[in-house]
Amino acid sequence: MSNTEMTANVPWLGVIADDFTGASDVAGTLVGAGMRVVQTFGLPDPSMQLHDVDCIVVSLKIRSVPAAEAVEESLAAARALKSRGVQQLYFKYCSTFDSTPEGNIGPVADALRKEFVPAGQITVVAPGTPALRRTVYNGVLFAGTDLLQESSMRNHPLTPMTDSSVPRLLQAQTKNLVGHIGTSAIEAGAPTVQSHFQTLSGQGTQYAVVDTLTYSHLAVLGTAVLDHPLVTGGSGLVGGLAAARGFRVHAESASAARPTGPAAVVAGSCSEMTNVQIDTFRQFRPCFLVDPVAIVEGHDVVTEALLFAWENLADGPILIHSTASPQEVSRAQRQLGRARAAEITEDSLSTIAEGLVGLGCRQLIVAGGETSGAVVRRLGITTARVGKEVSPGVPWLKTETDPGLSILLKSGNLGMPGLFLDAWDHNR
Ligand code: ADP
Repeated sequence: MSNTEMTANVPWLGVIADDFTGASDVAGTLVGAGMRVVQTFGLPDPSMQLHDVDCIVVSLKIRSVPAAEAVEESLAAARALKSRGVQQLYFKYCSTFDSTPEGNIGPVADALRKEFVPAGQITVVAPGTPALRRTVYNGVLFAGTDLLQESSMRNHPLTPMTDSSVPRLLQAQTKNLVGHIGTSAIEAGAPTVQSHFQTLSGQGTQYAVVDTLTYSHLAVLGTAVLDHPLVTGGSGLVGGLAAARGFRVHAESASAARPTGPAAVVAGSCSEMTNVQIDTFRQFRPCFLVDPVAIVEGHDVVTEALLFAWENLADGPILIHSTASPQEVSRAQRQLGRARAAEITEDSLSTIAEGLVGLGCRQLIVAGGETSGAVVRRLGITTARVGKEVSPGVPWLKTETDPGLSILLKSGNLGMPGLFLDAWDHNR
């Protein structure tokens, strides 16, 4: 059979991601690990044809919704994936464990366990993702060299992270018991990890937070959980699972999504790295600021943003952002309330993104998980083929809904400072 012939098949892995950029992150990692990946936005359409697909990544927007809603949507996604024949489910959350004491990581994991995991089996909790410099040691989560609670995540507009202990963060969200497996057990190999699972299970524990400092830890863990019906974690452990299943890099899938055409960035992420990326971009290309307070005061910011786009889009990439410093975000939240500030911003950026596509934009970067969720929904995109990563966790996606349109969904702290300047050239 020629390389170009498509084969229908049953994907072995089904990922449920709690936000859209997290879904892209895990999808890019899977492509990098040699898998052919389709990413859906919302539940997969029952009529979706699957050709040459090893993995389906379902992107949900459930990180900041009420827990009951998150549970309902995750279960629906899991059932849809199981009906497609996937052998293993992976619940993907952020490598910085973005959540609050109300959820939604605990409630969703509990519900998936209840329906898909036999009683007495441990479920791993593995946010550590060394490629993104998110590591877990003695159950404590580090972002680079900082404790999570001392990293920029302490200022996140929706899920400020003020504790670094993963067992403690999860235990606040679940009635199940949370245990921990440290590096010495992991370095002893998969059989030792599996015997720790049994010990923890014998003690009445349901979850094992696993230390992850290196790729070899992920490889051992991937082998140890190969037959688990449910695995939970950041994007790191999927690489370990792929390696344990013998996947190697697949050149065809890696080149599947090459963008061309007029280019724009829409940024609603207020994370530290997004601020740096915008400052870098600003030195070379024009930017436009969307201020939610100005919108509420009656300024027609959306029309102004689209006029700016109309004047500049033909000359090279442009950037439209609500991204602001923590002080500016606090000011907007004090005036409008946290939820309303987010809602106004997401709605305006979605309208702007829709206008940009109407103006001919064919390569669109969206920065921010919640922001990406809002924009992708507004654009009506339901399915995309995942291409090569521009940098770890940041792949281009070729939408199947609008075949000429490529999108790149960037999670807050991912990517290098020059991402918004380099992402386009990198793929030409
Ligand atoms: P990240 O991936 O960095 O977490 P998100 O898009 O998930 O980014 O979250 C950022 C949130 O902050 C969004 O809900 C967005 O609407 C909101 N936001 C963006 N800009 C502002 C602003 N200037 N003031 C208040 N909230 C904002």
